[in-house]
Amino acid sequence: MSVFQIYKKDEHLQRAKGLLNSDNPAKHVYACLELRFCIEAIVYQKLLHGIDSLPNTIVETWRPNKALKMLVEFDNLTASDCTVEVNLPNSLELPKSNWMLLGEQKLPSVRWLDKTYHKLGNFLHLVEPKNAANAKSKNTKEEVRDIAEQLEEYVRNNFLVSFNNIDIKQCPVCKQDIAFSLQKARDGETHRCSNRECRATFTVKVDNSNKNITLNCNTYDVKCQRCNSDIVVSEFTVRNLEIFSCRACGAKYIPKGKYEFALLPES
Ligand SMILES: [Zn+2]
Ligand SMILES: [Zn+2]
Repeated sequence: MSVFQIYKKDEHLQRAKGLLNSDNPAKHVYACLELRFCIEAIVYQKLLHGIDSLPNTIVETWRPNKALKMLVEFDNLTASDCTVEVNLPNSLELPKSNWMLLGEQKLPSVRWLDKTYHKLGNFLHLVEPKNAANAKSKNTKEEVRDIAEQLEEYVRNNFLVSFNNIDIKQCPVCKQDIAFSLQKARDGETHRCSNRECRATFTVKVDNSNKNITLNCNTYDVKCQRCNSDIVVSEFTVRNLEIFSCRACGAKYIPKGKYEFALLPES
């Protein structure tokens, strides 16, 4: 079944717009929920369309902003707006006219998606008790209508550019998903984990016979002195004396190195 049939972004948007036409503020809150579903449908369609096997970490801990960040990693082209046109050339030079528009891909930026998804989420909660005394009534309807209008252009079409030859591997240290283009990956190159908390450096091994990628990273296991959890530290972090932290309790550590010199004998 097509991803466009499973995730019906337009239905959510239309339902939200219907709810926003009401004068009942309770219905405006439900419109926020529908718009969040709409955003999720946009991202899900894009992800499911482009990749054969989704990594479990995305399927099991589904978060739209995490998923879109993943998309940007795949390829800047696939995760941003673009148009695709075709032409029948009579010469080797690119024709200047008579291009036929195949379709246009519209995808919101990660930043916009993230901001909007959270903003809609805020409308789904009651005012926190500490702010209850001087709470102003929220003008949900106007703000949400603006968002619905902006979403319209992303919902209008079902054209998606997908790129094959993408592989997803997990960072050997923090297990976060990292996307690789099988065409661009070079055997022996070093790569840094895109998770800011981790930044582990590993080497990429490309097996050209089956186009498989493996990631190698020398790591050390240490016990957290505060909570006794295991901490995996990459060799790169230790060599560069970089600060690392315990994932369980957040305690921060700095490695200490001791360097010595020795005079080489004259040859
Ligand atoms: Zn990592
Ligand atoms: Zn700890």
